[in-house]
Amino acid sequence: MNRYVDQYIRSEEEQARASMVEQLAARFAKRAAQHDREGSFPFENFADLRESGYLKLTVPQEYGGEEISLYELVLLQERLAYGDGSTALAVGWHIGQVLHLRTTGKWPQEVFADVCRSIVQDGTMINTFASEAASGSPSRGGQPETIAVSEEGGWRITGRKTYSTLSPILDRFVVSAYIPEEECTSDFLIRRNERVSVVETWDTLGMRATGSHDVVLDGVLTGTGMRLSGKGTDDGGGWLLHIPACYMGIAMAARDFALEFARSYRPNNLGEPIASLPSVQHTIGEMEIELRTARSFLYAAADRWDREKDERPSLRPELGLAKYAVTNNAVKVVDLAMRIVGGASLSRKLPLERYYRDVRAGLHNPPMDNTVLHTLANAAIQEQPRKV
Ligand SMILES: Cc1cc2nc3c(=O)[nH]c(=O)nc-3n(C[C@H](O)[C@H](O)[C@H](O)COP(=O)(O)OP(=O)(O)OC[C@H]3O[C@@H](n4cnc5c(N)ncnc54)[C@H](O)[C@@H]3O)c2cc1C
Repeated sequence: MNRYVDQYIRSEEEQARASMVEQLAARFAKRAAQHDREGSFPFENFADLRESGYLKLTVPQEYGGEEISLYELVLLQERLAYGDGSTALAVGWHIGQVLHLRTTGKWPQEVFADVCRSIVQDGTMINTFASEAASGSPSRGGQPETIAVSEEGGWRITGRKTYSTLSPILDRFVVSAYIPEEECTSDFLIRRNERVSVVETWDTLGMRATGSHDVVLDGVLTGTGMRLSGKGTDDGGGWLLHIPACYMGIAMAARDFALEFARSYRPNNLGEPIASLPSVQHTIGEMEIELRTARSFLYAAADRWDREKDERPSLRPELGLAKYAVTNNAVKVVDLAMRIVGGASLSRKLPLERYYRDVRAGLHNPPMDNTVLHTLANAAIQEQPRKV
């Protein structure tokens, strides 16, 4: 029987990678509960990701990577999150940013090439730490309180970043910092050293194994060439679809758990599985509508972004809509899945309560709902009126 999850696979190559990632996801699912409970970072998952070649999926082929499309990134991230949302979100920042750098060309070529070669050879990962306590989400344009001051040989950077996903494992990362002498903000690539410390602040409701701690920069020196001020080509921010792909995977896991429960749970007052009950079928139907609608937006947006290269900046409303629909519908899907399972869904022995907590985090990843609504409203208002 066809599996719904496979509906968006388009080729044998995509099928082969998807099968490989499903095996990883199955392994990660076994470790997820413990890392969630402890709030520990799943180093062994990242060793497996490295071993499997996952970390180099979006690296350009000229540097030894697989150069996969955004569509395939979504396909694979969704499957990874099916096993463990935290691991998928965390590695999503890495492979997503490499895709973004590949398509925008916003870093100096030699810096990007060096990072790519290191990803392929050593399993290096990257992420950007832009959020701060005082400025909030960087997507709202706040000025960082982290400061960069130029001196002989480079830039000295001081500040504190919050929500620094992957911080336990990264040996290099990007930070945004304000340059007072130029009255502007810029990104800087930093190598971890004794002036960088990770303060283990990440103790949250969900996504507990992402290692999103605070990172403190105590006058870290980075080279002159490590200032990454270029904006490159505007790609519309398509890479951020790694975020809804993750929350779609969590929703799929909740849906499949509830379906299996409905097929197999036979209360002795009923004599047949609860899947036979009209009320349960109604809830399953509602779950399918939320899930399938959002999923079709997600894949349509990724596909358009891949194909319509010259139109990428104008795809922002579509990309935002996909993120909005997926993250909000995913919250509803997990809720409906728990209603199907009933009281047992609250048990910490079952994964549903973790999905319920993890899926909430999507609302607080960019672009946030109010930004998407604003983008869609502006696009609608600026539209040429139709002549009738
Ligand atoms: C699991 C997870 C992983 C993350 N990983 C990273 C990472 O690797 N790197 C990174 O840099 N960040 C990361 N983030 C941080 C994320 O991008 C946001 O910065 C963070 O969630 C705070 O966003 P916010 O909208 O709640 O914050 P704020 O911007 O402080 O907003 C708080 C509330 O105030 C309101 N608000 C504030 N300003 C405005 C405004 N101008 N207009 C309208 N409303 C406003 C909104 O209602 C909002 O709900 C991560 C977040 C999560 C949850």
